[in-house]
Amino acid sequence: MSSPATDNGQPRTAISCRGLGKRFGDVAAVAGLDLEAEAGAITALLGPSGCGKTTTLRLIAGFERPDAGSIELGGRTISDAGGAFVPPERRRIGLVFQDYALFPHLDVAANVAYALPRGEAESRVGGLLDLVGLGDLGTRRVNELSGGQQQRVALARALAADPEAILLDEPFSNLDASLRDRMRRELRAILVEAGATAIFVTHDQEEALSLADRVAVMRGGGLEQVGTPEEVYERPVSRWVAEFLGEAEVLPARAHRGSVECALGSLSADPGLEGQVEVIVRPESLGLGSGPAPGNASSSRAVVVERDFYGHDQLLHLELDSGLRLRCRRPGFPAWHPGDHVRVWLEGPVTVLPAVRPSAVPQ
Ligand code: ATP
Repeated sequence: MSSPATDNGQPRTAISCRGLGKRFGDVAAVAGLDLEAEAGAITALLGPSGCGKTTTLRLIAGFERPDAGSIELGGRTISDAGGAFVPPERRRIGLVFQDYALFPHLDVAANVAYALPRGEAESRVGGLLDLVGLGDLGTRRVNELSGGQQQRVALARALAADPEAILLDEPFSNLDASLRDRMRRELRAILVEAGATAIFVTHDQEEALSLADRVAVMRGGGLEQVGTPEEVYERPVSRWVAEFLGEAEVLPARAHRGSVECALGSLSADPGLEGQVEVIVRPESLGLGSGPAPGNASSSRAVVVERDFYGHDQLLHLELDSGLRLRCRRPGFPAWHPGDHVRVWLEGPVTVLPAVRPSAVPQ
């Protein structure tokens, strides 16, 4: 994993899938998937259940043969339509499964040593255990470890063979919620320290946004959008991505000559957009006050109809004079209450997309 992650300042592609397809009977699990994972970066494959994430990972690992398309790893073709197929054990890919697939009767060091050629184990196991923060637990049996510690053993074992890439399938699904946040940070720190190229599968939006350098959003076997966490969250390419990644309000609007009129005032937009559009707003992108917006920016009158209080923040359900309902997320303080008359305005990123006719919405 020590090779540089850039070529002439450009990120180097470690894994490239082109036109990848895999069917199981009538089910197109992966369909025409184009995916590039940058060297030295953590890529999340994020999507709803059944969209083909695990199948994609299994195709890259070599546990499934694709029906269509090709896969390159570090510039060499490991699978293509012409029949090229490098078996899993010769792909130089490290794997961390959901259940970690460790040997319970062996100790921690032996589990890691298992992935190393004879003769290398003695010199390398200690360093790998230090890297994952288990330097003192080499002689502990795996079945005497916590879930988080077992995950770190699995990671050390995956890193041991100096792989070109590490694939992780729902790496946090066996951990309870309180441990998950900590393990996310630790896993990221370990992968970054090792300079690893990693792809991990998750259906959890927060996990993808907080852990990955790039998020590949999958839907129905294909890729809907790929970008940095900020790009996919703040500039979704479709209403579906916006709603899948978090709370989104969709305001119907009209665009004309680079300007859009919506219930919260006028916005500038891509001059290529004309006619019916949708303005997609995150609840936290709305400003709220009892008086005018800062700088006398345009604002709309509304009344608070409901409030969900979460301590660190509050979700306010607003009704505009026009009858349009919107959710607005504000810090927990000052408190707003149902019946409060307020003004609301845009103060964060918004996305303007062509309106999708109901009949054109894929299921
Ligand atoms: P989840 O988040 O629920 O694990 P996923 O996005 O990882 O879902 P896959 O496991 O890749 O989705 O499955 C994609 C589709 O292919 C699903 O409809 C699934 O039922 C089907 N599928 C996957 N593996 C097989 C198999 N071995 N035989 C038949 N169908 C399969």
